[in-house]
Amino acid sequence: MRSIPRRLFLQYCLLGLGIPFLPRCSSPTPKPSTFDILGEIVGEPSGIGHLVWQPLAEALIPPPTEKRHTAIIIGGGVSGVSAGWKLARSGVSDFVILDIGNQLGGTSISGQVGTSGIAFPWGAHYINTPPMEADCILEVLEELQVVVGYTPLGWPIMNPDYILREPAERLFIENRWVEHLDPFSTGTQGDHQAFEEFETDMFRWMLHRGADQRRAFTLPLEYSSADPDVRALDKITMKEYMRQKGWDSERLDWFVNYGCRDDYACPIDEVSAWAGIHYYACRYYADQLQDRFPVHTVTWPEGNAFLVNGMARRFSVANVRLNALVLSVRQVENEVLVTFMDTQTRQFTTLRGQTAIYAGQKHIANYIIPNLPDDQKTAFQECQYTPWLTGSIHLKRLPQTKQSTLAWDNVMYESEGLGYVAAEHQTRDTTDGEGASVLTYYLPFDREPNIKRRELLDKGHDFWVNEIMKDLWEMHPGIEKDITRIDLYKWGHAMIRPTPNFIWHPDRALRGRPFGKIFFANADVTGLPLFEEACYSGIRAAQGAMNMLRILYANSIQGGIR
Ligand SMILES: Cc1cc2nc3c(=O)[nH]c(=O)nc-3n(C[C@H](O)[C@H](O)[C@H](O)COP(=O)(O)OP(=O)(O)OC[C@H]3O[C@@H](n4cnc5c(N)ncnc54)[C@H](O)[C@@H]3O)c2cc1C
Repeated sequence: MRSIPRRLFLQYCLLGLGIPFLPRCSSPTPKPSTFDILGEIVGEPSGIGHLVWQPLAEALIPPPTEKRHTAIIIGGGVSGVSAGWKLARSGVSDFVILDIGNQLGGTSISGQVGTSGIAFPWGAHYINTPPMEADCILEVLEELQVVVGYTPLGWPIMNPDYILREPAERLFIENRWVEHLDPFSTGTQGDHQAFEEFETDMFRWMLHRGADQRRAFTLPLEYSSADPDVRALDKITMKEYMRQKGWDSERLDWFVNYGCRDDYACPIDEVSAWAGIHYYACRYYADQLQDRFPVHTVTWPEGNAFLVNGMARRFSVANVRLNALVLSVRQVENEVLVTFMDTQTRQFTTLRGQTAIYAGQKHIANYIIPNLPDDQKTAFQECQYTPWLTGSIHLKRLPQTKQSTLAWDNVMYESEGLGYVAAEHQTRDTTDGEGASVLTYYLPFDREPNIKRRELLDKGHDFWVNEIMKDLWEMHPGIEKDITRIDLYKWGHAMIRPTPNFIWHPDRALRGRPFGKIFFANADVTGLPLFEEACYSGIRAAQGAMNMLRILYANSIQGGIR
């Protein structure tokens, strides 16, 4: 979530429409017709991963190992790691997390130049100050020293080392850079008015409580008001909501669309209005509240891998099994048998667990878990995911633009891509451009995701590098001379899509309903692709497993009204 450029907007109002513009970028450099840049595809859903679609032949299933684990966690993304964290924090040490990847983190993994060089995110890269009712998330962030205390009002104080530094964002619009993500700087009076009304409306939602006295929008989602008037927003798209309000401004559409694509990989005409408003209203972003309830973006060079690795500090080597593709999760008598293939040795192993926590994406659960009830199968099938491409751009020196310094997040107006983040923004002064560095570029395939996924997987490194370069070159003509390589990560089923009638559809309960001794986690259970939701779902699943096994633990999920 980027901050709403309120202060700038007020300045424009005071100045009339005399907008302070940074000078136009001149680009005498001729644009090459194609770019020939070194690099490789570092991550992509492999053919092996698709073994899950086929039933596992009985002959391949080895007898189970002797040891019986308290819980076997399938999937080592934020949700699986959060489940393990909660178990470990509750004194349970004999759980195991299985993940097909070669590091924990799922869509929150990071990369590094060499073995000790610059770290950069491959996927998730920031969170914001959570609302004060986000109990289980705050518990994690306290342990990781991301939250270092609370104000007398109970508001979380974020660790200053991790708070996003200025310049945070800039926007390339009409061939110039403007500070902040501020498309209104060149907008019309109508754009400004629509923005002001939008802000006022979001402020209203920020403070709104339903008949049950819960905040209309909060994190975890589950704690939000169940008031039917608020939930009704989940039945229409964000664009429909905006038009109902009478806002018909190209600039406002772009602004809100960018936010929804950035956090949910879903454009305004496809995302639920409940999700769209949640983006602006779940935290107290408004300037009027910043003194008492300050909201900060927190980020790290390696992105949210910092949070994953922080939680994993509670794990021992025996708790994690990487390169492990889970092909079958079966319940027999009083235990769960989980069969996985080591993707390097191609050997199969069957583990025994008292319980299992399935923290992978739900669309494949139906293939892995036999005998799921039909209603739950249908609920899982309804999960739709957006694919993404991310690129790590390695440079001899960072891009320089006259009178505009590199920001953490650098965005191009009306681009398919969401721009790039500078990996070293938090650790050194990157404004002078000196020294080798890395940028991570983000491209969601938010329309026709199933068709685009095929294209993403079918096309190779050169094709996608050229797509990225089209964008980059517009912002930084001649940048190819400074690029040493571009590596790519293809994310097939990356983000759950919060389209209308998904988040609060009655099937929501089925996505999280335990099936015998199998508990379900992942951001797709609750419906928004956020660290907070993945974390909550993992902790909830771990608590469910401990309830079943009558293990005592401190409840992290109070769901209280604050
Ligand atoms: C490009 C991108 C940028 C993002 N940026 C942000 C951000 O800045 N902030 C934010 O809060 N969120 C962001 N997100 C959303 C992010 O997905 C969530 O924050 C969170 O990491 C989701 O975690 P998860 O555990 O629910 O799912 P996942 O991350 O998808 O983890 C699921 C794991 O299960 C494993 N798995 C699945 N099936 C099997 C199997 N059969 N065998 C073995 N392993 C299996 C997968 O390999 C994966 O590791 C971003 C996502 C993407 C794709």
